[in-house]
This record gives sequence, structure tokens and C-alpha cells, in this order.
Amino acid sequence: MLGLTMKKAMGELALIEQIRAESSAPRGRMSNIVLGIGDDCAILRPPRGHEVLVTTDFTLEGRHFRRDWHPPESVGHRALARGLSDLAAMGARPLAAFLSLAPPREMMRTAAGRRWVDRFFLGLRALAKTSAVPLAGGDTAESPSGHVLADIVLLGSAPAGRALRRSGGRPGDALYVTGALGGAAAELALLERTPSSKLGKFAASQSHPQLYPQPRLAVGLALVRRNLATAAIDLSDGLSTDLAHLCHESNVGAEISTPALPIHLLAQQAVPARALDWALNGGEDYELLFAARPTIRMPSTLAGVPITRIGTLTRTSTISLIDARGRSHPLKPGGWQHFANRHT
Ligand SMILES: [Mg+2]
Repeated sequence: MLGLTMKKAMGELALIEQIRAESSAPRGRMSNIVLGIGDDCAILRPPRGHEVLVTTDFTLEGRHFRRDWHPPESVGHRALARGLSDLAAMGARPLAAFLSLAPPREMMRTAAGRRWVDRFFLGLRALAKTSAVPLAGGDTAESPSGHVLADIVLLGSAPAGRALRRSGGRPGDALYVTGALGGAAAELALLERTPSSKLGKFAASQSHPQLYPQPRLAVGLALVRRNLATAAIDLSDGLSTDLAHLCHESNVGAEISTPALPIHLLAQQAVPARALDWALNGGEDYELLFAARPTIRMPSTLAGVPITRIGTLTRTSTISLIDARGRSHPLKPGGWQHFANRHT
């Protein structure tokens, strides 16, 4: 703390206290958290016979969200959702989340700024509760850039040797996605026109695929428990990009049926001419893409989420789209650019 002004130190202390207050480490014999916030480290105890999975994700203002488009609750929700979606993709159950948050200097000095941080935690806490993941620690500092910077670390557990990987796909496997695609990009396009301040009271729901994406934790757990999938990835960067990752790691190609793609209603309604592009390349849908042996009888829903067959893994190294007339078109990775080229 050497060299800090008292005012800054107080601001940081208040934020650490806030993270501590938000932490919800459950106590009791069943808890995986032996020690939560308050010491130099947290102590976790994974379930017997399980492996620990770790993922980390930045949430950077101007790169992953805009304060004038995304309400603070959405920024908190999305920061956690990104990590939870990675756990879902591997069929892991969340153990604990760790948040590092750096608001800009001026934010902690105004009532409006502190209210923004409160609302950020409101969104994060709501998703943490529904996902049964405790916030077990964190760090805070002043962002020198004038932008909000956050980093979240998620730990999860899966039965030893059972976590789903990108590399397990084989030629002939059927390809499936959860939910619907393109909704997050469609809502982003709508937010560009209508400020989020007109959205009204905070209520995370399925009808806000951009602001409040729903990580498919229960689907990932069901895939592992029922031994349904050979490979999986979450759709953070867009189907075209994430499918290329899965194919690369599995050393296969793929054929996708364009008419089979489940396109989000919001995308179909917002700009029908862009809906397919959003579904293929939009990103941030946080649905799961997974492969399964062709002999598996896949249920039409898992954990209440629709499951749609969209294609097949192939022996080639190419990824193709097959249109309604049976014509083949190459599908190039064209995923998620976010605001990188557009707004900042
Ligand atoms: Mg991922």
C-alpha cells in the first residue's frame, strides 16, 4: 500500500469488503470450500474421485462490453457466464469463482460510480446463485485507463477422466447444438439503436441472449453423466470459428446443414437478411456444440434445453455448409470481432 493516498486505500478497502460481502462460501460438511475470503488463499476440496478444471476470462470495457449499451447487471452476469460456459463445455460442475475487478479511479469517487459497481455485483450474484457457484475470493485495484477491467477465474470439477474435450470427435459423429444461434448478435445490433437504459428493471431472462446469456451447465453435466458426447466446445466466438476449433483438435472436417440450423427468433425478427450470418458468425451465444457417435439416440431436449442435429463430422479437412438444394459451400471461420474494428 506504500505511496497510496488514504482516499484511494479507502476506496480499495471498500471494494474488497464488497467482494467479501458478496462471497457466499457455504459452510458445512458438504461444502467444497474449506476456506473462503479472509486469508491469503482460498482452500478448496474437490469431490472424491474428481479432477479440477480451471478457466479464466477477461471482461474489458470497450472490448467485451460498452457501458452505454450494457447495463451494469449485464456486465456482471456476462463476466461470470463466460467462465461458467467454459465449464459447461467440458461437463464440469462449478466449484468456486474468483473475481479481480479494476474500476477506473473516478468511478469509486462518485455515488453514480459506486452504484454501477453495486449493480455489477447484483447481476453477478444472481447468476452465481442460480448456478450454485460461490464467489470465494478476488482482488481489486484502480484501473489507470478510465475503463472497467475485470478478470474472472472459474474452478470446476468432473469425474476423473470424464471431462469433455474438443479432441474426441471422430468421422461419422453427429453434430448437435443446444438452444438457438444468432440471438446475442441480433440483440447487440438492437442495443446499438436503443440504449439499454430503456430496458426497465433488471431481470435476467432467456429473451436477452446478448445481455444475459444462459451457460448450459446442466446440459454439460447430463452429457457426461449419460455418456452421450465424444467432443464438445462452447459457442463463444461463433459457430464457424468454434466448429473449426473442434474439427482442428479432433483432426476431422464437418458438413453443416444450413436449413437445420436453429436460428434465434430475435435474429429472425430483427433483420431476417442477416440472421444466418449472425447464427454462423455472431458469437457470444454461449450454447454448446457437441459431437456424438451416430448410434447414440439423442434426446430432443437435455435439462429442458432443445438439442438440434446440425451436421456430421467427416474424414476430410474441410468444413462445408450444405444449403437447402444440396449445394456445398466452404464455411470459413468468421467469428466474433466484437467492438475491435467497429467502435473502439
Ligand atoms: Mg470456451
